[in-house]
Formats: sequence, structure tokens, C-alpha cells
Amino acid sequence: MVFTYDTYKYLMSYLLKNDYEPILIGKEKGSVSKKQLFLRHDVDTDYLGVLPLANVERGLGIFSTWYFLPDSSIYNLLCHELGQIIIELDSMGHQVGLHIDASQYESVEQLEADIERIYAFLNVRLPLSKTVSFHKPASWLLNDIVIDGWTNAYEKTYYSNVVYVSDSNRRNFMDEDRLSNAVQQGKSLALLTHPLWWHERPEDFDETFSEACRCLGYDRIHNYLANTARSYAEKGIRGIVR
Ligand SMILES: [Zn+2]
Repeated sequence: MVFTYDTYKYLMSYLLKNDYEPILIGKEKGSVSKKQLFLRHDVDTDYLGVLPLANVERGLGIFSTWYFLPDSSIYNLLCHELGQIIIELDSMGHQVGLHIDASQYESVEQLEADIERIYAFLNVRLPLSKTVSFHKPASWLLNDIVIDGWTNAYEKTYYSNVVYVSDSNRRNFMDEDRLSNAVQQGKSLALLTHPLWWHERPEDFDETFSEACRCLGYDRIHNYLANTARSYAEKGIRGIVR
């Protein structure tokens, strides 16, 4: 499979044609739909890929849940650019939640307390929903953990009670039987995708890697320095970093 926006659009159209109903995680209460589709995106790195993918969904009239890391080393949820992306997602009808690296906690209580603290802090500026997904989840987190007042994307409703399909590790999930079998059997689906893998045109691993470095790393620093320090503007960061 190729990870392009056209492929994603094709996949969404295929699911809609097969009577799947996209439902925001945590908002399914009372729904009688037999073929539920829980669309979820974990934004581990490529926040620049968020709106293009969200626009594909909007073009088809569907919505999904986007999870952002509050402690990413690549992006800052409090910066203006991220705020605008999240506000735009919200205005399109998408839902935004927290993507939590739970490896830093020793108990559910600790995890719960920190999620509440992070939410209270960020929710002042950002339209967040009380839903959470885990970054690289340890197996105990997949076991229907209940977090008071929150919807967890690994609760059984969205994980073990449905057919769960993901593009983690750039898995060619569309070439596997799992997805098509689920559709044939009319089973509800949870689909996790990461914006990093999806692009306008097909890219291989190496291209995706260098493109991500270019977009998220060197050039951003270069632009910042070039705009704030004349000597960098004259030299260019590529003349410095080798
Ligand atoms: Zn993640």
C-alpha cells in the first residue's frame, strides 16, 4: 500500500460505502449503529501532517479524534502554531485529546493525577476533550484501564470489543486480511493512524525520514535563527551543521 492522502480518502470512502458510521471516541453512548468506526490519530511527531489528513476527512463529512503529546520534544502545545491547528480541528468538528507516555508513572493513581493536572493547565487555552490514548502502551495499559472522568482509547469499547487496526511502525495494514475481513463480517472498527506516514505523494521510509527532519528539525531552527540573528541569516545553518 502507499501512504498517500488519496489512499486514505479511498479507504474512508470504502468504509462509508460499507455503511460504517464514524463516531468520536467517548461519544458513542446511545448509538445503535452496528458498524461503528472509531477513527483515531496519535500525533507523535508530524503535527504539520495533521490538517491535510483532517481535511480529507472533512471532505467526506467525517470526524475523528486527534491525540497530542503534552510533553513532546518536537512540538509545543502552547505555541501559537499548534494552538491554531488544534482550534481548527475543533472548528471542523474533530475532537482533541491527550496522548500520554505512561512509562513515566508507577501507578494508575499517579497517571490519573497527572492527566488531570495537564488537562487543567492546557484546557485554559485549548479546546480539549477528556479523552486519552497512550504512547507506546505497556501491556497493562491495554487491559481496559478505567480513568475516572476520562475516556481511554484502549478501553475495551475501542480496543478489544472491535477489530483494532493501526499503521504503527508504518504497517501496511491495508494489504492485510484483518481489515477486509472485518468489513466483510460487518464488525465495528477502531483505526489508528499517525500523520507522519501519510503524504501527498508516495514516499519510502528514507524519504519520510529526511522529509520529517527537514520539516520538523533543521529548517525550523534555521528559519528561527535566520530571523533573529543576522550572522545566521548570512551563513545559513547548513553551513554550520554537518
Ligand atoms: Zn504515540
